[in-house]
Formats: sequence, structure tokens, C-alpha cells
Amino acid sequence: MKRGLLIVVSGASGTGKGTVCKKIIADMPEISYSISATTRLPRPGEVDGKEYYFLSRDEFNAWIADEKFLEYAEVYGNFYGTPLNKIEERLNRGEDILLEIDVQGALNVKSKCPEGVYIFLLPPSIEELKRRIEGRGTETPESLQRRLANAVAEIKIGREYNYVVVNDSVENAVAKIKAILVAERCKVERNADKFKM
Ligand code: ADP
Ligand code: 5GP
Repeated sequence: MKRGLLIVVSGASGTGKGTVCKKIIADMPEISYSISATTRLPRPGEVDGKEYYFLSRDEFNAWIADEKFLEYAEVYGNFYGTPLNKIEERLNRGEDILLEIDVQGALNVKSKCPEGVYIFLLPPSIEELKRRIEGRGTETPESLQRRLANAVAEIKIGREYNYVVVNDSVENAVAKIKAILVAERCKVERNADKFKM
């Protein structure tokens, strides 16, 4: 059985990770999205068990103690974690799994699963990043400034990834990620079975 791809999409807050990943999942139903757990409150329209598992701080701590996370990190004052949720078994069954996580989490996963596909999403510019965060309307002026300052530092870490995709338009970014996944699935090391003729 061919092992599935562990696909990690990451980048600074406001770049468009959520928007791009939603489209990938809608277009490629064979990829399963890893639903993270978080201590942040749901935004309007967000449903527990769909966008996130919304946990109290105590519940989150209990998940940490029970070793239920592949990784977790504090991001802008809230905790976020990737549930282990039998990820290894699912990959071994040939399922592709997509993680949309922050930069700290992605580096953490990369140190544990170097065979994964690490994709760094970049905004076209810092000015455009600012416009996008403002346009989303979810941040106070202070938290906007904090995210922009962090973005500059996080973007430097993008060099640690395997691929970089500029999210100029959602359509372009999605097309590039699809191309990356096609190429990854064609890698010789992932296709040893095909040589057995
Ligand atoms: P992230 O998940 O990286 O924090 P979001 O997906 O929430 O980012 O996107 C931030 C904002 O930018 C949203 O309002 C979204 O609609 C918008 N956005 C995302 N991608 C693009 C794009 N390619 N062009 C213009 N706006 C975008
Ligand atoms: P938001 O609160 O806007 O949904 O997400 C804030 C940040 O947390 C984003 O950068 C998002 O990618 C990141 N994030 C979401 N889930 C996880 C996770 O499971 N682990 C880590 N490390 N970061 C996550």
C-alpha cells in the first residue's frame, strides 16, 4: 500500500492559508483535512468539529497530558494543536492529509516527519498582507501591528520549507499547490511498486 502524503501549508497570519486550503479540499476530496483543536473562541459561523475542535484551556491541557497532539503551539495568545488522531495509520492506509498550521507548528512537524510536503504561502507584499488582515475585520489595531511584525520574522523561516507559493490570486496559488502535489505523487521514492514488472 502506497503511503499517503502529509501536506503542510503554512505562512504568516492573513496570507490566505485558510482560504486557499478550503479551495484545495473542495477541489480534491481525496485529501482529508486535519481539524485542529484550539482554545480560541469560535468566530461567527464557525462550528465545533468542522473548522476546529473548540476546547477550554483545561481541556487543551488534558489533551497535552494525554499525548493527543502531534504538535501544539501558542499563537497570538491562544493554543492550537494538531490531533494525532491516528495520523500515522491514516498515512499508512494511503490517505493524504492536509495540515494548515502556523510556522512554529510546521517546523515542529517537519522535525518529526521530514518526508512530508512543506509548502510556505507568501503574501505578494507586506502592504497587501496588511490590507488582507484589515479586510478580514477580525483584528484590533494592536493585534494587526503584532501580526505584521511577526509576519516579517516568520517569512524568513519560509526558507526551511520545500516549496514557496505566492498567494497573489487564490486561483494561481491553488493551481500551484495542485501541481506540487501531482509532482510529489510522481516521485521515484514514492513509487517503488511501479518498478516491479
Ligand atoms: P490566514 O488563514 O492565512 O490567516 P485567511 O484565509 O483568513 O488567511 O485570509 C485573510 C484575508 O485575505 C481574508 O479576508 C481572505 O478573504 C483574503 N484573501 C485570501 N487570499 C486572497 C487573495 N489571493 N487575494 C485577495 N484576498 C485574499
Ligand atoms: P486562526 O485563529 O486565524 O484560525 O488561526 C491562527 C493561526 O493558528 C493560523 O496561523 C493557523 O494556521 C494556526 N493554526 C491553526 N491550527 C493550528 C494547529 O493545529 N497547530 C498550530 N501550530 N497552528 C495552528
